[in-house]
Amino acid sequence: MSMTETKPTTPVAGTYQPKGMLIGGKWVGSASGARIAVENPAKRTTVAEVPRAAAADVDAAVAAADKAFPAWKAVVPRERGKLLLKIAEAIQARSEELARTIALETGNALRTQARGEANMTADIFRYFGGLASELKGETVPLGEHVLSYTRREPLGVVGAIIPWNAPVMLAALKIAPALCAGNVMVMKAAEDAPLGVLMMADICQEFLPPGVLNVLTGYGAECGGPLANHPRIAKLSFTGSTEVGKVIMRAAAERIVPVSLELGGKSPSLVYPDADEDWAVDGIINAMRFTRQSQSCTAGSRLFLHEDIFDSFLAKLEKKTTALKIGDPLDEASDIGTIINNKQFTKVCKYVDEGLKRSDAQLVFGGLPPKTGPLSEGYFTIPTVFADRSNDWRLAREEIFGPVLVAIRWSDEAEAIRMANDSHYGLAAYVWTHDIGRGLRAAHAIESGWVQVNQGGGQTPGMSYGGFKQSGLGREFSLEGMLDSFTQRKSVTVNLAV
Ligand code: ADP
Repeated sequence: MSMTETKPTTPVAGTYQPKGMLIGGKWVGSASGARIAVENPAKRTTVAEVPRAAAADVDAAVAAADKAFPAWKAVVPRERGKLLLKIAEAIQARSEELARTIALETGNALRTQARGEANMTADIFRYFGGLASELKGETVPLGEHVLSYTRREPLGVVGAIIPWNAPVMLAALKIAPALCAGNVMVMKAAEDAPLGVLMMADICQEFLPPGVLNVLTGYGAECGGPLANHPRIAKLSFTGSTEVGKVIMRAAAERIVPVSLELGGKSPSLVYPDADEDWAVDGIINAMRFTRQSQSCTAGSRLFLHEDIFDSFLAKLEKKTTALKIGDPLDEASDIGTIINNKQFTKVCKYVDEGLKRSDAQLVFGGLPPKTGPLSEGYFTIPTVFADRSNDWRLAREEIFGPVLVAIRWSDEAEAIRMANDSHYGLAAYVWTHDIGRGLRAAHAIESGWVQVNQGGGQTPGMSYGGFKQSGLGREFSLEGMLDSFTQRKSVTVNLAV
């Protein structure tokens, strides 16, 4: 993120150039005329500018959405679904441009991350497009002379706020179910990664009536604040940090607006002694999201290794992780790209520095980023692992959102599970063992919204995903998620005796 407006803009070939923000089917600038520079974190150059929206722009977008709502709500659900399916195919047709745009602005490597995100985005529209007929209600048996049934009605204007780490996929995960269910939306893109979201909105608006989807670009408090507090917003859907999640929930409480929150995590990986094998090491690298610079709320950033395999497992982890190539996100050869911006980069470096200075912790591999050479041109960090006995220090408790993994030794299973649960977060968790009974017992004992056994993959549409504890509220990735988060149930009771 940069507010400098004096830097020259250097567009990058094969990526999307924004036309403004989308309000009421039109591409517009901000009411104030102010703009935000979008930075390529691999080169620290400005690659585009987007409008810097504030309260007046939020008002305009909410008014456009409000106006579009009655007609959109009245569209037969299957027809809404068909439009989403068309959007899915149009996104697929432009997936390479979308992937390059994502890689450019987020720093996520094209081959290992951004392409997957672009394809997943098309899949999300496909999945929800196919679910439109499932917006069913129930009949309630109140007796022969009464017909009581429920309807799933849309809420109205959904206010959505998204982060920068997987911006397009996370935007699709709100847009597709909300619109499928008959809502309209005003979305605020993250200030650091608005381009992919604007490109997706550009594709969407070819098929949608004006005002059904509106996308604003702006800063958190300045644009997200008025959106969260707008009196015409009927539902808030937020993905981001736990800290800002609390601000959103307070805004929702003021007007009793339903809210979905997908927040942070400090997810444990629990490795049993029988899993000291290559497949588990590959799984840990995946679960830690090292090829996304670990900028993922589901990153398995606390590695609980049984003492019998502690050293041998870490040796394998070092060999495989250090073989990954760090480099320009747009280069096909790169496995790992950059951290999003200078603020996050500095924050990650501070954590690494703190680990290096702690006498109880031992650096297994990694460390501070190079100060010279090609990697010093951008916000490149290197995968770093510290070994420690404790789950109680800052690096084991706080969400770093960077490639810093803390390995903790355990010998007693109950103690390992106690440590895994000793966190105010509860988003994801990973268990590694050949003993499936033991693996499932651990999965059931861990306090997390999502536990994977013997795999470290990402979310898939259809699977309800969301956090326990301060990792969030509500579920959005699935049919149930759509019904719970983006519809309200109405009961209609009819006296048949008259
Ligand atoms: P991250 O750590 O991923 O940047 P944030 O929670 O800071 O997570 O940001 C997620 C989204 O929330 C971004 O779009 C950001 O602009 C927005 N945001 C930040 N602060 C506020 C706020 N006070 N009110 C509304 N939205 C905010």
